[in-house]
Formats: sequence, structure tokens, C-alpha cells
Amino acid sequence: MLTSHYARELAQLVTPVAPDIPRDARLRLVNHALADELQLPGHWWQTDNITGLLCSPVSELSRHAVAQKYGGHQFGQWNPMLGDGRGVLLGEATSASGKLHDLHLKGAGMTPYSRQGDGRAVLRSTLREYIGSEALHHLGIPSSRALCLFDSPQTVLRETAETAALMIRTAPSHIRFGHFEYYYNTGDTPALNALFDFVLTYHFSELKEAPNPHQALLKAITLRTARMIALWQAYGYVHGVMNTDNMSIHGITFDYGPYAMLDNFVSNSVFNHSDPHGRYAFDQQPGVALWNLNALARAFSGHCTVDEIKAVLQMYEPTFMAQYQQIMMQRLGLDTPGEQTLSVLNSFMRMVADEQRDYTATLRKLSHADPTLSHSPLRDEFIDRESFDTWWQQYRALRQTQGDILSSQQQMLNTNPVVIPRTHYLQQVIDEARQGDYTSAKALIEAVSNPFSAKWENTRWAMPPTDDTQVSLSCSS
Ligand code: AMP
Ligand code: MG
Repeated sequence: MLTSHYARELAQLVTPVAPDIPRDARLRLVNHALADELQLPGHWWQTDNITGLLCSPVSELSRHAVAQKYGGHQFGQWNPMLGDGRGVLLGEATSASGKLHDLHLKGAGMTPYSRQGDGRAVLRSTLREYIGSEALHHLGIPSSRALCLFDSPQTVLRETAETAALMIRTAPSHIRFGHFEYYYNTGDTPALNALFDFVLTYHFSELKEAPNPHQALLKAITLRTARMIALWQAYGYVHGVMNTDNMSIHGITFDYGPYAMLDNFVSNSVFNHSDPHGRYAFDQQPGVALWNLNALARAFSGHCTVDEIKAVLQMYEPTFMAQYQQIMMQRLGLDTPGEQTLSVLNSFMRMVADEQRDYTATLRKLSHADPTLSHSPLRDEFIDRESFDTWWQQYRALRQTQGDILSSQQQMLNTNPVVIPRTHYLQQVIDEARQGDYTSAKALIEAVSNPFSAKWENTRWAMPPTDDTQVSLSCSS
């Protein structure tokens, strides 16, 4: 049974909206493992029951559906006009461990916040979100999750006519930085405080007894964000639209748009065509997250002094750095970050960046290389073999002095994926799904759900793009 705490207890922050399900919507993908985790009723998934439930105004799934109001800084500019323009919050499921998880239906028609939009989502972006969010989750990067996906023969107009689709995603909540910013910037202190109380009651209850619960909340959001960004940088994930309305207070990857994971390591990569100045380039993400946290922190000024806020924000950078270094040590099979190990890490990243090597494939190959041998098979991957040889000797010396080689290799194989959601194979499965064939989509979901498994090695899902398979991204969704 779903609860609707947000919709009922923050009724002044939402607008009830009946989901508008396109004609002939068909359930195409279901994440049964997640449905079980969230203790959702099995009958939802039988012969499209869920589609009927979403269409019925009185069913448990739709009767408390609401659109949330929020604002956000978009490309640095404050925009108070935002909110769920094409999605509705259906309610909250409770996992076996007692945690709440929002169910949010995307592509469910117009709401008061649709502005010029049609309230719809296209299959291309919906399937990209479905697969991308599951991939990140299974890589160990906190993310919203994908519960199910529908498509419809109805088309929607973007740059061209595209297949319409809907998905239900889950997240602890859909509360964004922009929620707090909106009620702070409009001076609606009662709403802002109701939101703080809600978040401290339902999502960060362990902080309620802290000396200053609001400062503790800002700290928790800051540290979780730092950890998420460290994982993005360590795995080569580019979000693409890090506006504050796309930032979750839970420090999870959220609101997938024109995202990509790096193939070749190019540190200033931008995949969003609407970002010509590279505000959200790969190497800008750590700084942008801090900028966004600063924007959020203003909303805490009624409860924290400037010094209390500063003390929290100053924790971001060292936390990000320590987390990033720790993850990269694991990926390189090294122990703790220290002067020598960090120097080896820096030289490795410089080589990969200078030669724009495929980031994921290079690290996976390194996981297979035997550090007791003076000659590495990885050598042939690099043009500047002299630099590689120098690096290899330093690296293998460290590997051999730092603990057991077999266990460090196992650690590498468990942290360096074979499969990531590469843009070119997302495009292949989208093309097939548009024809009504989800066989490849399901196969890719299975692969990204077990990304470290050797069984994908040298298969279709492990291949970097070639000149023929490279695709460029559209940011419309
Ligand atoms: P996004 O770029 O998806 O993060 O969306 C930014 C804002 O635009 C949010 O308020 C969305 O709800 C709204 N929006 C995006 N696409 C549409 C659409 N097709 N129809 C209505 N609102 C939309
Ligand atoms: Mg958004």
C-alpha cells in the first residue's frame, strides 16, 4: 500500500493532478527485483494491470497523484517557474527496512508547471534514463532507480516526431535543492519550515536530535553530494544539466537528461548541445556541485549563522578529494592514498588524458595485467611507450610492496567495470525499441546490472564506439 505523506502533509506545496496516460500505453519493462525490494503488489505487473490502475482516478496508484512545485538555478540563472511539468508523484512505497521511496511517473501529461511543454516524454530519453540509472546504481553510484517503462503508439513532436513513453522511477524522495531555494527566495517562511520539518522527520530523522538539526542537514547533503561527485569523476559520468532543480538532497544521481559516460578520456567533454560554453563539462562538475550547494545553503540562513554555513561548505572539497582518491586507489589496486600512490595515480590519469584512451577499457585491461611481469600488455595501447614503461615500473613496484597481489587484483576486477551505459549502444537499443523490439534493451539492462562480470568481456556490450557507431546526443527529451 502506498502512503502519500508529501501530498497530504505538504498540501500547500503541491497541486493534485490526474495522470493522463496516452492511448494504448503498453507496459514494456519491469524491474521486478526493485519492485520486490519496495514490497509492491505482484498483481500490478500482471497483464498490464498497472496501466489500468494509473488510468483509474480512484486506484491506490493515482488517487493521490500530485505535481510538486520547485524552482532552480538553470545555467546560473534563477528560475522560479519550475515544478513537475510532465511528471507526477504517485506516492511513497516502504522498503522492508522501513525506508520511504517515492514513485514518480514521468511523461504523464500537462500540469500547472508545464509552461510551453506538452507534458510528455519520448522513448529515447526515457529508455536512456531507465538504463543509465540502473547502470549507475549497480556501479555503486547512488542514483534514482527505474521501476517500469511504458511506450505508446502516440507520437510527440521534438526535433522530429518521436515515440511517446512513460516511466516510473523511484528515489528516497524527489526533493531537489530547488525546492528549498524556491520557498526561501519567495519569502514563504512557513512553507520553507514545513519542508525542513518534513525532510527531518521522514528522510533524515537521525539528525533531529543534533544540536542544530538544520546545520546537520546541510552537512549531510554536502557530504553525500561530495561522495556522489567523487564517484562521477572516478567513473567518468557526465550529468550534462547540473541545474539546482536536478540536484537531489539525498546526494543521488537524479533527472537524467543528455548524460554520457566517457568513452575516450577527454576531461572537458560536453555532451549537451545546449551547453555551448561547457558550464557542465566533465571537469567542471566538482566545482558546479559546490556552486549549487552554495545556492542551497542560502535557504538555511534562517536557522544557521553565516559561520555555521561556511563551516559546512568548507567540508565539501576535502571530502570530495578524499573520496575520489580512495576510489581511484581501489581502481588501481593500491592501498591508501599517499605521496607515492597519488603520484602514480596522477601520472596514469595524465597518460590516459594525453592519449585520450578509452577510460573504462583501459582500467579493465590494467586489472588483468600481471604486476610481477616487467612487460605489460597494456604498453601497446599507448603511443608514448617510453612514458608508459616508466610509469609501469613505478606502478608494479608499488603493487608488489602493497599487500597481496591476488587480492588487489580481485579488488580491481570488482571496481573496474566491463560494461557501462555507453551512448552508442544505448542508441542501438533505442532504435530497436522504437520498432517495438525490447530484446536488446533487456539484454543491456541485464549487462549493466552486473557490470563487473567477466562474462561480458569481449561481448557486444564491452566495446568502445568506432567511428561508425559514434552518435551525438540530442538534449530534447
Ligand atoms: P528538465 O530539463 O527535464 O530537468 O526539465 C526542466 C523543467 O521543464 C521542469 O520543470 C520540467 O517539468 C519541465 N519540462 C521539461 N520537459 C517538459 C515537457 N515536455 N512538458 C512539460 N514540462 C516539461
Ligand atoms: Mg529536471
